[in-house]
Amino acid sequence: MSHNPNLEQALKYYFGYDNFRLGQRQIIEQALQNRDLMIVMPTGGGKSLCFQLPALLKKGLTVVVSPLIALMQDQVEALQDNGIAATFLNSSLNAYKVRSREEYILSGKVKLLYVAPERLLSERFLPFLDLVHHQVGISAFAIDEAHCVSEWGHDFRPEYRQLKSLRKRYPDIPVLALTATATERVRADIIKQLGLNQPSIHLASFNRTNLYYEVRSKTKYAYAEVLELLRETEGSGIIYCLTRKKVDELTIKLQHDKISVLPYHAGLTDEERTTNQTRFIRDDVRVMVATIAFGMGINKPDVRFVIHFDISRNLESYYQESGRAGRDGEASRCILFYSYGDVKTIEFLINQKPDPQEQLISKHQLRQIIDYAEGTDCRRTIQLGYFGERFSGNCGNCDNCRYPKPVEDWTIEAMKFLSCVARCKERFGMGHIIDVLRGAKTQKIAQYEHDKLSTYSIGKDKTVDEWRMLGRSLLHQGLLEQSADGYAVLKLNALSWEVMRRQRTVSIAVPVVQKITWEDGDEKATEVELLLQRLRALRKQIADAQSVPPYVIFADSTLKLMAQVQPQTLNEFSKLSGVGSHKVSNYGEKFLAEIRAYRQEQGLLEENSTPFFGLPSDTELLTLQLHQQGLSVTEIAAKRNLRPTTIVRHLSDLIEKNQSVDFNLLVPVEKQQKILQVLEILGDISLTPIKEYLGDNYSFDEIRLVRGKWRRESKK
Ligand code: ADP
Ligand code: ZN
Repeated sequence: MSHNPNLEQALKYYFGYDNFRLGQRQIIEQALQNRDLMIVMPTGGGKSLCFQLPALLKKGLTVVVSPLIALMQDQVEALQDNGIAATFLNSSLNAYKVRSREEYILSGKVKLLYVAPERLLSERFLPFLDLVHHQVGISAFAIDEAHCVSEWGHDFRPEYRQLKSLRKRYPDIPVLALTATATERVRADIIKQLGLNQPSIHLASFNRTNLYYEVRSKTKYAYAEVLELLRETEGSGIIYCLTRKKVDELTIKLQHDKISVLPYHAGLTDEERTTNQTRFIRDDVRVMVATIAFGMGINKPDVRFVIHFDISRNLESYYQESGRAGRDGEASRCILFYSYGDVKTIEFLINQKPDPQEQLISKHQLRQIIDYAEGTDCRRTIQLGYFGERFSGNCGNCDNCRYPKPVEDWTIEAMKFLSCVARCKERFGMGHIIDVLRGAKTQKIAQYEHDKLSTYSIGKDKTVDEWRMLGRSLLHQGLLEQSADGYAVLKLNALSWEVMRRQRTVSIAVPVVQKITWEDGDEKATEVELLLQRLRALRKQIADAQSVPPYVIFADSTLKLMAQVQPQTLNEFSKLSGVGSHKVSNYGEKFLAEIRAYRQEQGLLEENSTPFFGLPSDTELLTLQLHQQGLSVTEIAAKRNLRPTTIVRHLSDLIEKNQSVDFNLLVPVEKQQKILQVLEILGDISLTPIKEYLGDNYSFDEIRLVRGKWRRESKK
C-alpha cells in the first residue's frame, strides 16, 4: 500500500465507480488508519464498499462475518466478477473444498474471506485463523448485519454474541460493524456487545431519495391497478401480502394474467423456496408475491418496485420491506395499498395476543402506520420523523408532494351520511348505510323497508368509494363511532350531532385521480429503450452461462448508461460508471458489438459508404462483419483461413473507405497518437521508414492501420 493512495483511482479500477457516495471516503480513510468503526447506513447505502476497498488496499486478509449463506455467495460472486480474490467458507462446502480454500487463503492471495460466525468461532477454525494471522496477516474483521448481536434487534442470533471473543484474541486487529438498523438502542448494544474500541461512528441519513412512496386506497379495483402497475413498469418487483393464502391467490390470478410471477412463503418446502428465490434473483421470473418471510438477506440490487398489497404491521417493518427496492440507487417505487378492512384484521390479530402490554405496543405501532397511510403530509417527513430524523418539507418524490390532496368541505355530505346512520337506528355497518344513500335495491333494504327512509337515494351523486372515504374520515376524525364487536356497527356521538345541527363543518382530503406518468417517452427515450432491451438480453445470456445473477455482470444503471452513451470503443466503454478494469476486458467487446449491431440496424452509423471513399470489396466486408462481432485479428484470420497481415490490410483499407472499424480495439490510443504525429512529419510514405523512426515497440500492422485512418482523415 502506498502512503497516499489515490482512493478514487482504486475505486474506478476495482469497482468501476467514479465517485464515492456520501460518507464512504471518510470511512475508508479511517479504516486504512486501522480504527474501529461503527457504520449505520440504510439498505443500498453502499456499506460493503466500506470494508471491501480497504481490504484491497491493506496487507493481509479481511475476514467478513455474515449471517446468511445466500448473501455470502452473492457478495463473493460479485467481487470475483470484478477480478477480486474473495472466497467464502460455510457449511455448503464439502471437506475437500474447505481444505483447498484454506490452502488458497494461506498462500496469501485472498483479500476477503466471508464466514458465518459459528464457523469462525469453532474449535477447528480458530487455530487456522491464528495461522493466517502469522503467515499472511489479518487486516480487519468486518461484522456485517451487526444488529444480529442485539436482543433488541429484529434478528437476534446468539452466535453473534460470541464475536466479542475475537476482540480478546486479536486485540490489535480493527473491527468494523455494519448495519442498516434504524433504532438507537440496537446501535448502542452493538458497540457494547462487540467490544468496539472508541469506534468512529458513521450514521448516514435514512432518507432513500431514489424511492418514490405512494399510498393508494385499496378499492375493489386494487387488483386491476396492480396489474396496470406491473404492465407499465419495467424490471423486477416484490408484492407483499399478509397471509400465505393471499399470496397463493394473488399468484394464481397474476399467472392467469400472464405475469411472470412466483410465490414465496413459509408454507412452501425449503426446496421450493430456494428455487423460487434463485429464479427471482437471476431474472428468470419477474415478480415475487410473498409474505414477509421473503426478503431478509435478499441482496438483489435492481428491485424496481415493492408493492404492499396489504398493510404492514408497523412503520419500521414497512420501511425495511419497501426499502428492498432500489438498492442500486436507481429510481424505484414503493406502493402501499391501504384499506381500513386490513387495519381491522391486524387489530383482530393483536387482540389475540395474551400479553396486554404487548397489545398496547402493537396497537400504538399500528396507529403510526395508519397515520402514515392516511397522512396528507410528505410521506418522507412522516417516516424519517419516526426514526428521529428531521426532514423538512417537500421531498418531491412521494404522492403527497407530487399530487397534494386538496382539502374539500364535505359538510353537506357528512350531514347526509350521519342522518342516514340515525334513520337506520344505529344498527348497521357502513356498507348498508352507503347502499341506502345510493338507493340500492338489496334484500336487506327491502327487509327493513329502508327504501321508505327520507335518506334513501339522496346520495346517488357520489360513488361507493367516495362515501366510504367520507365514512372512514368521519371515523378517524372522531365524528362517528364504530362498535368493536366485529360487526362494525356505526354509532353516533356528541360530535356527530354537532355536525348534523350545522354547528361543525367537515373537511376531508380528497385524492385526485392519480395518473402517474412514470417515464415521459420522447423519441430518443424509446430508441434508448430498444437498445437497453438488447443489452439486458445479452447480460442475461452471459449471466446464465456463468450461473450468476445478471446484476453481477453489470448493474442496471450501467446498462442504462451504455444505452444512452452508446460507446463505440473500448476506451469510451471503460469510462462508464460501473465498468472496472476487469469488466472491460471480460465483457467490453461483447457489449460494444451489440451496440454496434443495433446502431447499424437503426441506420445510426454516419459512416455510410460513399463513392468518394471507395467501396469495400466482398472479402473486406466479410472481415468487417467478423470484426464487428468482436473477433480479434487472429480469430478472423483463423476463421477465414487467411494470414493475419491480410486481415490487417483489409481493416486498414476498410478504415480508409470510411467503414465502421473499431479502431481503439486494434491499436492502443497512445500509440495511435504517436504514429499520427510521425505521419504528420514524414507524410504519406512507405511503412519501413516510419517503423524505423518509431522503433521496435510499434508493429507494421499498427502503423498500417493508423495510416489508413490518417489517409481517410486527409480525404475529408
Ligand atoms: P448495502 O450493503 O448498504 O445495502 P451495498 O453495499 O450492497 O449496500 O451497495 C448497494 C449498491 O450500491 C451496490 O449495487 C453497489 O455496487 C452500489 N455502490 C456502492 N458504492 C457505490 C458508489 N460509490 N458509486 C456507485 N455505486 C455504488
Ligand atoms: Zn414527500
